[in-house]
This record gives sequence, C-alpha cells and structure tokens, in this order.
Amino acid sequence: MKGFAMLGIGKTGWIEKDIPKCGPLDAIVKPIAVSPCTSDVHTVWEGAIGDRKDMILGHEAIGEIVEVGSLVKEFKPGDKVIVPAITPDWGAIESQAGYSMHSSGMLAGWKFSNFKDGVFGEFFHVNEADANLALLPEGMDLYAATMLCDMVPTGFHGVELADVKFGDDVCVIGIGPVGLMAVAGAALRGAANLYAVGSRPVCAQVAKEYGATDIIDYHTGDIVEQIMEKTKGKGVDKVIIAGGNVNTMQQAIKMVKPGGRIGNVNYLGSGEFVTVPRVEWGCGMGHKTIVGGLMPGGRLRMEKLAALITTGRLDPSKLVTHRFKGFEKVEESLLLMKDKPKDIIKPVVIL
Ligand code: NDP
Ligand code: ZN
Repeated sequence: MKGFAMLGIGKTGWIEKDIPKCGPLDAIVKPIAVSPCTSDVHTVWEGAIGDRKDMILGHEAIGEIVEVGSLVKEFKPGDKVIVPAITPDWGAIESQAGYSMHSSGMLAGWKFSNFKDGVFGEFFHVNEADANLALLPEGMDLYAATMLCDMVPTGFHGVELADVKFGDDVCVIGIGPVGLMAVAGAALRGAANLYAVGSRPVCAQVAKEYGATDIIDYHTGDIVEQIMEKTKGKGVDKVIIAGGNVNTMQQAIKMVKPGGRIGNVNYLGSGEFVTVPRVEWGCGMGHKTIVGGLMPGGRLRMEKLAALITTGRLDPSKLVTHRFKGFEKVEESLLLMKDKPKDIIKPVVIL
C-alpha cells in the first residue's frame, strides 16, 4: 500500500509498505477523511521526538473498517468510525491509574505517527478497536467529524486541565485550531471574560464566534501587560496554553492569580527548559498549579464529544478553512500546516 511518510528529520515523501496485520482485538481501517496536525510538523521538521525512518504520518482520520479481529464485539467491516489520535492500551496499569494517554510509558498512548505508522496510508491499524473507536453518527458532517479526532479533545482537555468554572476569567494563549477549541470549551464551561491570544485575523474572527470576549495580539506588546491592563492588575483565574514556546509558561504564571491553574496542551517542539519565574510563582508558595497533558483517547470520550456536535452545541467545522479531495493532496495539506499562511486554520482531505 501507499503512504505519505516521514523519511527522516526534515524529510517527507510517498512510500510503499505492507498492509498492516490485524490482531484479535484490533481493526484495519481505510481512511475516508484525514487532516494534518501541527504535531506532525513538530515531529518532522523539528525532530521533536527524535528521528523516525519511513514512518507513515498522520493521526487524525475518519475511516471505514475493512477488517476486525476475532475478539472485537462492537464493530464490523463497513462501519464508519471516528479514530482518536490517541489510542491507549486500556489494560495497562497507567490506564487503571486514570492516565490512559501514558499507558505503557509516558505519551505512549500516542501511537500513530509517533512509533507506528499513522493514518496517511491506504490502510492503518487500530489497537483495541472496541475501546478506541467510536461509530460515526449517521449524517454527521465529515469536516466537523474530522475535528473530533484531535482538535476538539485536545482543546477541551486544556479546559479540563485548567479546570474552568462558571464565571472564571480565562486566557487562552494560542488560537490555532487547538486553542480555538479551548475557547469553545471554556465558553461551554461558563467562562466570564475570555481572552484569546493570537494574531491571524481568521483565527481571531472564529475565536469571537466561539465566545472570546477580547483578542490579544502578542506582536503588539507583552501579553502579561495586556492582560493586567484589561483585568485592572488582577490577572486571570485560569490559563490554557495552546501555542507559543518554552517561554510562554512564564507569561502564564505571571498572569494567573494565586490559586489559579494553568493547563498546557502545547507540544513543546524545541528548547531545553521550561522555566518558572520565582517571584511571580509566589516564591514557591503561590498556589499556582501547572498541569500539562496529552489528550486522553477512548470511545466514551469520543461518543460524548460527538454528542456535542449532534445536539448543535458545538460546530467545529468552522476550523476547516481548506478543503481538498484525493489522497495525493495529503502532501499539500501537510505543507500548508508547516507554512501556516495567514488564511489557514485547518485543512481536511476527503479521500
Ligand atoms: P497553530 O500553530 O495553528 O496555533 C498556534 C497559536 O499560537 C497561534 O494562534 C499563534 O498565533 C500562537 N502563537 C505563536 N507564537 C506565539 C507566542 N510567542 N505567544 C503567544 N501566542 C503565540 O497550532 P495548533 O492549534 O494546530 O496546535 C497547537 C499546539 O497543540 C501545537 O503545539 C500542537 O502540536 C499541540 N497539540 C497538542 C496535542 C495534545 O494532545 N496535547 C494534540 C494536538 C496538538 P498566530 O495567530 O500569530 O499564528
Ligand atoms: Zn494532532
């Protein structure tokens, strides 16, 4: 079969591979819609997780099942499914502890385009199909559905990590597709003032549609100063980080109130250390909680997030600015994610 792969750090191309084999609990899936992710960009062009040779990229797909293992109960060939980016080993001890995304090792719930072939192939393998896949609801828009694989659960996980509550003042740093879903999730959770940090006009517009009350451009001055000015020196209750770099954490710590929480879902692709400013962290006593997390996968979560779309509470299709048709367009769509022209939020390729 054909697949679009990372050939080595900084190198991509089309390769041929064998069709993956199905284990007793697993499924083999044919993609019907895929989307490239900024994480693929960190992986290939920053070498963020080390070198990978001839690994098929991609971890966001809606697909059709072509084969299931003998122990799979809930799915059959022909079923259309939502495939979460993270596919944990549900029997692992870490999953029993509540951290499925770290099942069998830190970040090891993230398999596609990390240490096994991803979804940019003609076929791909899904471990533990019953636990990891969710049926695509009848009639769901494919563009909206594709956002369920990673953008919705990651942005919403940022909201969970920051533990946004009714009436909280919240700052979302970074309003690419992940941050925009954090804005939408924070609004659903009852945020009051909702500050969104970014600069691309298309993202700012969609952030407002999802509930941002103020847009803050990080090019026009320090974002901490801008937040302090808008909050009359008080700062915000919660911060969600979905963009920026290793220095962004310092800004988050400075702008969050004592007792506040910072939820990071940004994938730090480069830099050696994330530093904590001593004084603004209350000299170690400020009760400013920092949590960073990979999104959890799982069928239950996927079904619940899909229900937000079917009930009309969330429309993630607003993220999809570029629509392509045909497998060969995967390459162009990934390069768009790398180059980030001003008008892009997220591309989707229908196969
Ligand atoms: P984008 O690159 O599309 O968006 C990044 C955002 O950050 C943009 O709004 C950008 O602004 C803003 N930004 C860039 N530099 C700064 C800065 N110095 N200060 C403040 N804001 C800044 O990324 P995505 O939304 O696609 O993804 C966000 C992150 O989430 C990525 O690192 C991605 O790899 C990661 N991720 C993590 C997952 C997880 O499970 N934890 C899963 C999926 C993705 P501008 O408008 O100027 O472009
Ligand atoms: Zn992703």
